[in-house]
Amino acid sequence: MNPLSWIDDELDSLERRHLRRRPPTHDGPQSARLSIAGRELLNFGSNDYLALAADPRLGAAASEAVAHFGWGSGASPLVTGRTELHQTLERRLAEFEGTEAALTFSTGFAANVGAISALVGQGDAVYCDRKNHASIWDGCRLSRADVRVYPHNDCRRLAELLEASGRCRRRLIVTDGLFSMDGDLAPLAELASLAERHGAMLMVDEAHATGVFGRRGRGTTEHLGVEDRVHVRVGTLSKALGCSGGFVAGPAPLVEWLVNRARSYVFSTAAPPACSAAALAAMDAVQDDPQRRETLLARADALRAELRRQGWNTGASASQIIPLIVGEPRRATALAADLFARGLFVPAIRPPTVPEGEALLRISLTAGHSDEMIAALSEALARHV
Ligand SMILES: *Cc1c(COP(=O)(O)O)cnc(C)c1O
Repeated sequence: MNPLSWIDDELDSLERRHLRRRPPTHDGPQSARLSIAGRELLNFGSNDYLALAADPRLGAAASEAVAHFGWGSGASPLVTGRTELHQTLERRLAEFEGTEAALTFSTGFAANVGAISALVGQGDAVYCDRKNHASIWDGCRLSRADVRVYPHNDCRRLAELLEASGRCRRRLIVTDGLFSMDGDLAPLAELASLAERHGAMLMVDEAHATGVFGRRGRGTTEHLGVEDRVHVRVGTLSKALGCSGGFVAGPAPLVEWLVNRARSYVFSTAAPPACSAAALAAMDAVQDDPQRRETLLARADALRAELRRQGWNTGASASQIIPLIVGEPRRATALAADLFARGLFVPAIRPPTVPEGEALLRISLTAGHSDEMIAALSEALARHV
């Protein structure tokens, strides 16, 4: 008897429920066009919102850094892994975010897990939106704080939970700023008021909003005018910035605490220095060209309006992420397969990424999509309503 044979049974069960996942593999740069399994496709499945991932300026900056620093970083930042490039990037991120300090992690996932578990622990309470990203959930669980879940964007329920929570040492409210699957924004002003009333820390994950939302591209905290009321800001370099790595921005003592206590920072090898060089080039691009994000959001508004007119349920989307909520996983996979056959890559998102009964197709627009490409998607979808 093979002790791993249970895995075959579980995989069969996933298959029967249309939940088995297989990563599609492509050959070439991340861009508005992809080639998968020999098919040329329009790519509506990337988080490369500003079309920077394959921008030659990033590659050139990375190559130059490799020539000086080599590729690997060789150790945790607390030992010998941190270079002047890491430091320059962190200073630049703090300046970009308008905070005292910033700290980089090897991924956004690591930033969330490390930050949350360093901010709260046993005897504390963390308040988590039901639709928060998996890395926030994992940070909450790892922290060993009491995890109190509120329904998506439901401030009234959150207020009740805060009232009811009696005595505890510290409290943290944590939310995505822009939700990754529904494309809607968190009610940050209300959350900030609740945090203030109850003396709680407020942490916002800007993974999908950095570089896209806000006048300077700082994200939803800037867009919604609450920058001064959010204590901990998390972002990623791997989406709109087209690079790799995550960061936390905030007051200097917060960052120093994370340097000492965030386990995913302390016990993980620093990102290759060239990643910092590429990220610096990406930040130049974001700051020099605000028009890119403005055009992207305007195109997203137009596409969303057209899809709603066609009769699709796009939920509460207000961003470059436009879900088509279809309900059953089978319907989502069938629709994705049909679009694929028409040369359009739009991923089907199924449980456990979304709740049961809320399977969806996730359209993500980028600055690399032309009006013609968007029209091709909209025409293909018009046949399906
Ligand atoms: C993608 C994502 C992360 C993780 O960022 P990576 O850099 O990809 O590890 C964290 N939070 C949210 C909301 C995300 O969508």
